Amino acid sequence: MAKVGGRAPRMMVIGAHPDDCEYKAGGLAALYRQSGSDVCFVSVTDGRSGHQTRYGPQLAAERREETAASGRVLGVEYRVLSYPDGALQPTLEARDEIIRLIRQYDPNLVLTHRPNDYHPDHRNTSLLVCDASYLLTVPAVASQTPALARMPVIMYLSDDFQRPSPFSPSVVVDIEPVLDSVLDMLACHRSQVFDWLPFNRGELDQVPSNRDQQRQWLRDWFLGVLAPLADRHREAIILAYGEEIGRQIRYIEAFETCEYGTPLTPELRNRLFPFLPDEG
Ligand SMILES: [Zn+2]
Repeated sequence: MAKVGGRAPRMMVIGAHPDDCEYKAGGLAALYRQSGSDVCFVSVTDGRSGHQTRYGPQLAAERREETAASGRVLGVEYRVLSYPDGALQPTLEARDEIIRLIRQYDPNLVLTHRPNDYHPDHRNTSLLVCDASYLLTVPAVASQTPALARMPVIMYLSDDFQRPSPFSPSVVVDIEPVLDSVLDMLACHRSQVFDWLPFNRGELDQVPSNRDQQRQWLRDWFLGVLAPLADRHREAIILAYGEEIGRQIRYIEAFETCEYGTPLTPELRNRLFPFLPDEG
C-alpha cells in the first residue's frame, strides 16, 4: 500500500459494540490487511447486555473471547473498553480514553458511527470520537499521551437513517472478493449472530443447529442485509468504478467523510483506498 508519512496507512474502527466494526467495515479491514496495513477494531462498550438469557460480567467475558477470535481471523488488534453495554455516556473520562487510544495507535483513517444512529451507544460513540477529533492535536488535553501533529481522516460507517440527513457516501468499496473473511469474523460472534440477533428479530427458530448449516444460514442472512446497500448507492459505485463494472458490483461497504477530521483530498483517497480505481 502507498505510504502515508513514511509508513503504510493504518486504520482504526471505533464501534460501540463487539461486532459493529466487522458488520460495517470488515471488508475494508480485510482489504487493508491484504495490502499489509495494520487495523485496530475498538468496541467502546463491553457487550454485557445484548443477549436474551445471559448478561453482566459473564456475557462481557464471553464477548471478549469472541472479539479475540474475530481479531485473529485477519490479524486485527481488537480492543474492548469497559463501558457498560446499553449505558454508554459521553463523559470526559470516556472522551479522554478515546483521545489516548487514537493518539497511541496514530491511525491515518478512523471510522465510527454517525451521530444520528438509532442506538444510544452508537450515538454516544460517535459523539466521543467527534469530540475527540480536534483535541487529538491539543497537547494540554489528556496530556500524558503526546498529541498528534495532524488529525486522521475520520469517516462514518453506513446506516439507513433518513433524519436529519440520510447517509451520503464519499467512498464505496466492492467487498465481494473478501466476503469470506467478513463472514469468518462475524461467525466468531456466536452469542450474537446465532443467538441474540436472530432472537431480537424473532427468527431464532430459523437458526440451524448444525455448524456447517449455520455458516450458510449466516451467509444468506448477511448477504440479504448487504445487497440493498449497493442498490441504494449505485450512482456512487458507478462514479468510482465506471459504468460497466459499477453495474455489476453486488456487495459494498460505504463511508461518509466527517467534516471534523483531515479532509479527504483525492490524493489522500488514493492512498487510503488504493484498491479503488484512481480518481482523476
Ligand atoms: Zn452496535
